[in-house]
Amino acid sequence: MPSVRHVVVKEAGVTRTLPLHLTLFGPPGSGKGTQAGFLTQFFGIPQVSTGDLFRTEINEGTPLGKKVKEYLDRGDLVPDDITLQVVRRRLEEPDTARGVLFDGFPRTVAQAAELDKMLQSMGRRMDHVIFVQVPTEMLVNRMAGRLTCPKCGRTYHPQLAPPKNDTVCDVDGTPLVMREDDRPETARKRIGVYLEQTLPVLAHYRQQHVVSDVDGTGNIDEVRTRILRAIDGRRGGAHDQPQD
Ligand code: ADP
Repeated sequence: MPSVRHVVVKEAGVTRTLPLHLTLFGPPGSGKGTQAGFLTQFFGIPQVSTGDLFRTEINEGTPLGKKVKEYLDRGDLVPDDITLQVVRRRLEEPDTARGVLFDGFPRTVAQAAELDKMLQSMGRRMDHVIFVQVPTEMLVNRMAGRLTCPKCGRTYHPQLAPPKNDTVCDVDGTPLVMREDDRPETARKRIGVYLEQTLPVLAHYRQQHVVSDVDGTGNIDEVRTRILRAIDGRRGGAHDQPQD
């Protein structure tokens, strides 16, 4: 695994050293997946979305997919040991040499603690956690009606982020589907699970002074600009403003 740290300077004036380990943290429906797509292109690092990894296993009918399906269908978290096994395997792939953008992981304090150890053993660490804040009452609306590309995982919303053509993915032309767990009842359950089990992860990272709070309301471009500013702002050190 190359341990080179070099500087990336991009047109928007954002400077970061590589390898870079970022986490997009926020409730379901906060737009993490949408922003993740852009950030991975920008920095040339892969997105590791545990939700997408699980859905691929389910679609391929693997033994692991069969094990995790019931948790996803209920809106519950997959047990930590299974989740960590999937992430560990993913981090062994060579494309993670420049770093990783985590999306939907870590989702429990135990996962965060274990990820710290995994990164440490690779001579790395979590560099930055971006907390995308969206008021709880907006979340169910955002999730209801959401359409997902079953191939690449990109999400759309008929009003908030419509695809260019009503029924297919802009990226690969695959017909869009509504995720079973985006139905209002399961969506509410997922928000409850987030508040109870996932929000404490933020305190774990606040202790490490790597969290930036970003307003996740407004349109996709506005949120993207705020995220880039937050990433750039961390060059000089910690800028935590605890608001949770
Ligand atoms: P969202 O962020 O919109 O809730 P995801 O695609 O990240 O959706 O996750 C969908 C489901 O996959 C979760 O409700 C949960 O069942 C499972 N899952 C994803 N990531 C994790 C994780 N880190 N730990 C446990 N379960 C997970």
